[in-house]
Formats: sequence, C-alpha cells, structure tokens
Amino acid sequence: MYFCMSLSFACPKCHAQLASSSLDSFVCLTDHLRFERIDGVWRFLLPEGQTHYAQFIAEYETVRRGEGRGASDENYYRSLPYHDHKSADWRIRAVSFDSFLAPRGEFRFVSGARPSPA
Ligand SMILES: [Zn+2]
Repeated sequence: MYFCMSLSFACPKCHAQLASSSLDSFVCLTDHLRFERIDGVWRFLLPEGQTHYAQFIAEYETVRRGEGRGASDENYYRSLPYHDHKSADWRIRAVSFDSFLAPRGEFRFVSGARPSPA
C-alpha cells in the first residue's frame, strides 16, 4: 500500500513522480526501483550511477582528505553549508544555497539538523 506524504520526488530514471511506500522509501511504479533514506539521507543514485561514480568518489575523497577537508562525523555533513562558519568557502556556499531556496519558498536547513519552513 502506498500513501501520500508532503515530500514529492521524481524518479531519476524516468522522471515520473515516485510513490511513497513508507516514511523512508519511495518507489517508481514504472521502473520498479526503490529509493531509500538511509541515515537520514535520501539515496537517489541509480545502480548504474553507483558504478559510474565509484572511481570519482574514491579519488575525490582522497584529494579532500589530503587537503585536510571533511570529517568522520556524519553530522558535520548534515549541517553544511551552515556548520563551518570559520570557512570563507562555506559562508559563500551558505549564501548561495539560501539564494537557491528562497525564490522557491522551500525549506531552509536551520542549524543543519532538520528542515524547517522558510
Ligand atoms: Zn522510473
């Protein structure tokens, strides 16, 4: 059984609206693909995309570690772009992110923890 939620997503493969099958999963009724929220993060990368991007992700993470960026704490990433107020890079990204969301009246991530209405 599927039910409506306030969240609405499109299938990354066929672009049809996904049906919610639980609080933590959506399904594409056309492609029979399931997309889940794991550890609070929606996973919409198609299986072929996971293979395609695996090398890039591994290399990107190596470079970022070498630059001293990143964190082992997952909450650090959930709170971006507002978490790292000392970094000029992240201050710029926060302003850009707010500018992206504001015209749409969409959520703003306050303190990076949970979405709240703008
Ligand atoms: Zn689909």
